[in-house]
Amino acid sequence: MGLTSAQVYQIKNTINERYGALMERMHEEAVQRCTDTRADANLVYESRVSSAVREIRALEAARARMAVGCLGRCSICEGSIGFDRLLADPAATRCEECEARQASGERAV
Ligand SMILES: [Zn+2]
Repeated sequence: MGLTSAQVYQIKNTINERYGALMERMHEEAVQRCTDTRADANLVYESRVSSAVREIRALEAARARMAVGCLGRCSICEGSIGFDRLLADPAATRCEECEARQASGERAV
């Protein structure tokens, strides 16, 4: 079952909100980095920024999937990811079952 246009719209808003929050965080980190003179300032900055960049990339990828109309398709089983899950995490690429299977597989290794 695909997403309705109202659902897509809601997810789009969630992506935009999160994107905005991440950019704000990046901005704050940059301001902080500029004034921080501690020896490990750059290390702290880089780890915080790289986690924000990772999230931004995932959101960009979700935007691209949305643009071509395949947001919400599981990358493993091609089934649908489900609106609630996407709303909670628009960057999700796997359905709940595949995610669970992946998680238990990773634990087993
Ligand atoms: Zn799946």
